[in-house]
Amino acid sequence: MRRCYLESPQRRREKSIPYRMYDNDLEKRMHQLEEQYNFFASHAFAVITVIGPDGIILQQSPSIKQILGYDHRKRLGKNFLHSRLVHPDDIYKKEQLFEKAKKNPNINYKDELRMQHKNGSWSWMEVIFNNQLHNPYINGIVVITHDITERKILELQKDEFLSIVSHEMKTPLTIIRSYSQLMAKRIQNKSGEKEALLFLDNIANQTDKITRLITDLLDISKIQTGKLSIEVKPFQLQQLIRKTITDFRYASSSHSIRLTGSTKALVAGDESRIGQVVINLLTNAIKYSPKSKRIQLHIQRKRTYIITSVMDYGIGIPASKQKYIFQRFFRINERSEQHMSLGLGLYIASEIIKLHHGTIWVESKKGKGSTFSFSLPIYTKKIIHPPHVTRHNVHADE
Ligand code: ADP
Repeated sequence: MRRCYLESPQRRREKSIPYRMYDNDLEKRMHQLEEQYNFFASHAFAVITVIGPDGIILQQSPSIKQILGYDHRKRLGKNFLHSRLVHPDDIYKKEQLFEKAKKNPNINYKDELRMQHKNGSWSWMEVIFNNQLHNPYINGIVVITHDITERKILELQKDEFLSIVSHEMKTPLTIIRSYSQLMAKRIQNKSGEKEALLFLDNIANQTDKITRLITDLLDISKIQTGKLSIEVKPFQLQQLIRKTITDFRYASSSHSIRLTGSTKALVAGDESRIGQVVINLLTNAIKYSPKSKRIQLHIQRKRTYIITSVMDYGIGIPASKQKYIFQRFFRINERSEQHMSLGLGLYIASEIIKLHHGTIWVESKKGKGSTFSFSLPIYTKKIIHPPHVTRHNVHADE
């Protein structure tokens, strides 16, 4: 006998639940997607615009507010092609992108244009056009715009940097060449031994300039690739500073350098790299004090650190520029006929001090002079070294 079960109303309700759950899930999922879309559209670092075949703005992401300061709702219905946001000199680029995209669906056409923020400032934007007029879900030309101002500034700085480097290399090479020619003449005529010595000296000076420039460039590339490493061993900072001052006195008689303060404490670090920092600060102190001839170096122990300061009474640094002074390529006077100035020395110095767990800073007053100081931790046997640093197990006499 076949048993027949009648389904209770409860059981029937239970069976229908999955269908209702499906409906709810779908709704929930749609809501989720909408929320996600709204979030991306307002927080994206790009402005997404959909325009019609006539250039009328059909949709625009709210992110235009944070990127260019405008309210997207007020831009709907306006003609993208007549918009005054684009710099007059770049309008033709925008029109070309539009024409190309209109003719060729699905292909990205991109260019870089200047656009004006609501506050009046100009930004560099990368603009990509993609024709989706045939796509029934989009039905328009999609324009994606994102801010590339920072990259553009860096590119401009790099171009300028390359032109300075080429200039800085060319000048000493030209001098070397002319002195060599002069010397050749003197040798031919068997005359002017004294002059020949002077020429040789000049040649050596110019070669040093090129070598310094190349060393700086190599250091920058090491910093950029994270390959600037230091060889750590304990040494007496005071001794290094004394030796550096003696070398300076020997090489340049234009300024008088005085050392004050004293400490016999050791630091753990790369002596030649720390020497490079001291040389850089002293070179700058001389370079930027054309009128005052006095330079003072001070060394002192402060708790677990040794602080070294280089004081000059030169041109000083305006307060508004001091926070940029350790940045790469930063120079106050963009062009200097007298000195080689690339804005690399202090950047390299600060990276070296960072590798030694120290700090570097400046105190200065425009027209009164500058004091550049750096601190280095005093060596103790427990000192911790960063993993990428090569360590030498040298035991210092404490
Ligand atoms: P460079 O001297 O090659 O330009 P630096 O990185 O050493 O590069 O210095 C960056 C800038 O900081 C310099 O161009 C100069 O404007 C300023 N500066 C550095 N040291 C001094 C100083 N002692 N006095 C005044 N200005 C300084």
